[in-house]
Amino acid sequence: MKFELPSLPYAYDALEPYIDARTMEIHHTRHHAGYVTNLNKLLDGRDELASRTLEDIISDIRLVPDDIRQGVRNHGGGHLNHSLFWQIMGRNKGGEPSGPLGDAIRSSFTDFASFRELFSKTALSRFGSGWAWLCLDSADRLVVLSTPNQDSPIMQGHVPILGLDVWEHAYYLKYQNRRSDYIDAWWNVVNWEKVGELFVHRHEMVSQTRAV
Ligand code: MN
Repeated sequence: MKFELPSLPYAYDALEPYIDARTMEIHHTRHHAGYVTNLNKLLDGRDELASRTLEDIISDIRLVPDDIRQGVRNHGGGHLNHSLFWQIMGRNKGGEPSGPLGDAIRSSFTDFASFRELFSKTALSRFGSGWAWLCLDSADRLVVLSTPNQDSPIMQGHVPILGLDVWEHAYYLKYQNRRSDYIDAWWNVVNWEKVGELFVHRHEMVSQTRAV
């Protein structure tokens, strides 16, 4: 069982000026790569987990042996979370979602501006390191929530379709302590077409994180 670092679907400078190329390169080649390397080390020789997908393992973390459980939670969650994060951003993106996702956001949160305000506030108020998410809950309702560290929403039975990394490593080079400026800028790179696809295909758990 071996996981691989997925390629970014764009160049490191594609998200400039909102997210700088240096941050993207370090984030991908060191932070995400580190989660993958550590996850592979943890799972080496653990044949009892080899037949399961990473989503299956993380969604029922209690089934992972004690001695590697916290490590798999951190590094496996890190791999899942970042694999989604890269996909839902892109060059010349931003704006507002249309189609079924746009309709669902308006029906769940009144309008896009209210959704954006709630999501930004959730990202800003996460103390320390973690993520803000737009997910579908077990009843297929859209929910905004936050997780600490590299915990994945799938640990709570939620399917994430949009995530924002608010670890300092995601923004510190350009924004230092100004997390709210990073959050405001990030809306300009959200790839709503991709988030809309994930919304429509949510029951398939589209993933780049299959073991090879
Ligand atoms: Mn990160």
